[in-house]
Amino acid sequence: MQKGHLLQFCCQSCQNIILFSVFQIAKQTIQCQSCQLNYDFSDEILARQLHKFQNLCLQIKESKEILSKTSVAMFTGEGKEIKIPYNLLLSRLNSTLDLLVGDRPLTITFRMEPTLEPIS
Ligand SMILES: [Zn+2]
Repeated sequence: MQKGHLLQFCCQSCQNIILFSVFQIAKQTIQCQSCQLNYDFSDEILARQLHKFQNLCLQIKESKEILSKTSVAMFTGEGKEIKIPYNLLLSRLNSTLDLLVGDRPLTITFRMEPTLEPIS
């Protein structure tokens, strides 16, 4: 795989893991290396959402060192305040984006470690 392929999804036809980057999608269709099925993500709205998704995941990764020092406060019914660290909240964040491609659901996953080979 090439460096910078931060996103991946499972081929709808053969279940092969397909790696790609947001920089590819404007220029070309993404092709499954196993069954040659083409995926077109060039739609303007879809491309924008994928860019935002990747940027959000990168920003979370980038901000890790300060996330344990920030929190969100929630008020309980008895006038008490509970502070939940962002670190804890984000540990529950699923780094996937669910899309509908054609009429079938497609889950795009952000790869935190882009140099690792996909698990097969
Ligand atoms: Zn395939």
